[in-house]
Amino acid sequence: MAGVAWHYVLKFIITGDAAVGKSSLLVRLTDQRFLANPDPTLGVEFGSKLITIPEENKVVKLQCWDTAGTESFRSITRSYYRGAAGCLLVYDVTSRQSFINVRSWLQDVREHADPHLTCILVGNKIDLCADDAGAAAAAGGGPRRKREVSTDEGELWAKEEGLLFVEASAKSGENVEEAFECATRNILEKVRRGV
Ligand code: GDP
Repeated sequence: MAGVAWHYVLKFIITGDAAVGKSSLLVRLTDQRFLANPDPTLGVEFGSKLITIPEENKVVKLQCWDTAGTESFRSITRSYYRGAAGCLLVYDVTSRQSFINVRSWLQDVREHADPHLTCILVGNKIDLCADDAGAAAAAGGGPRRKREVSTDEGELWAKEEGLLFVEASAKSGENVEEAFECATRNILEKVRRGV
């Protein structure tokens, strides 16, 4: 990608409980692959990706930071949030607990990050849900788990909190780039409106 110019550089942060798939979403976005058994001690911390928003005629460089294991300490420092324009708040659709805990992640973001930060709620691991269309194919014969958080529930809570919302799978790649694009569109809209 050397020599490709971009119009904006945006910092994104990815938060949520351990094991919801934050590193996997980042790897999927930047490297188009999925690791079934990533080493948790080698959490991917940073990745960068150029995306194009055609209707704005803009190329945007996303600089994405993952909490990389610090989530268990809840010790994420202000510097992690500083300068962030976008945030992916991730839960696992097969873990109700991770959906419950996403509330405190949002609280953390609201305490530390810029008030204009764009947040998108991401329900990850939809490939695991046997009831979802195409799940069987996506799971590729791998283990299936029961969905514990419905799409409606995720969507409703996101709406109440003023968050964007998408369900995705780092494994199949479904909606991963779309999640970042959706948040980026929202950020560019704010830029245009001078917010
Ligand atoms: P993190 O701790 O939130 O960064 O989570 P990881 O990215 O390390 O993922 C935790 C586990 O969930 C790993 O075994 C991943 O392979 C798995 N995983 C992550 N995303 C998905 C997904 O979309 N579908 C499935 N089936 N597994 C996933």
